[in-house]
Amino acid sequence: MPTVTIDGHKVRVKKNATVLDAARRAEIWIPTLCYHPSVLSEASCRLCMVELDRGDWRQLITACNYPVRRDIVVYASSEGAEQARRGVMELLLARAPESEELRAMAERMGVEKTRYPKVTESQRNCILCGLCVQVCEHLIGQAAIGFAGRGVDKAVAAPFRQPSEDCIGCGACAAVCPVGTIKVRVHKDQNEVEISPFKSRSKLMLCHECSAPVVSTEVAEKALQKIEINTEEFRELIRLCPRCRMLRTAKQLAAMPAYENG
Ligand code: SF4
Repeated sequence: MPTVTIDGHKVRVKKNATVLDAARRAEIWIPTLCYHPSVLSEASCRLCMVELDRGDWRQLITACNYPVRRDIVVYASSEGAEQARRGVMELLLARAPESEELRAMAERMGVEKTRYPKVTESQRNCILCGLCVQVCEHLIGQAAIGFAGRGVDKAVAAPFRQPSEDCIGCGACAAVCPVGTIKVRVHKDQNEVEISPFKSRSKLMLCHECSAPVVSTEVAEKALQKIEINTEEFRELIRLCPRCRMLRTAKQLAAMPAYENG
């Protein structure tokens, strides 16, 4: 097992673990945005830069995807590493100035404002980390969104910037977006769930007992296909909101004959 010496702390990690894994084991904080343990890291936000000791010089590397193959010495809290990360944070702040999540992280890093001009309105509040695109394609299996445009016009969008027919309204993209750009909006009056800003809408499945919104009907169908339990009882359970599901289970348990001790 190789050893990572990070800010003077020695940590042994499995071969090919990342520098970020080593830092977390050593309880050293390195800011991350585009990193998510469920998808392959592309280090697109560059916020996790640290310095790797190359003997007579230091190289900036991204901690979230740099594999540890041999003993290495890394500086996460050096002036060089922190300065590089603050520079990246300023660029990100210009892209997503309204993101509370980003501003909170900037504050923790000691960045109060950005020197860079704000990006255009259509690109606003997306740092182009690509997490939503990866999760939609590789974890959910839908590929309802992707990158569109180039250079300064690059943005995450549904095909032709129209509501995507492949979107099932699961909200996984919103759950992973590190800057809170994607929102799940429930339109109760129309029984629909909308994924904003992509304008995709899906029919909502309402709880069979209390009519509270549960999930989109497509998500429920997909879950049933995946789980492969096709009894009528299970299909009925999936159509209930968590509260009614719990009440139903409690009633069933209460109706069961009690076991006698001894
Ligand atoms: S919408 Fe959010 S998750 Fe998707 S690329 Fe932009 S910042 Fe990343």
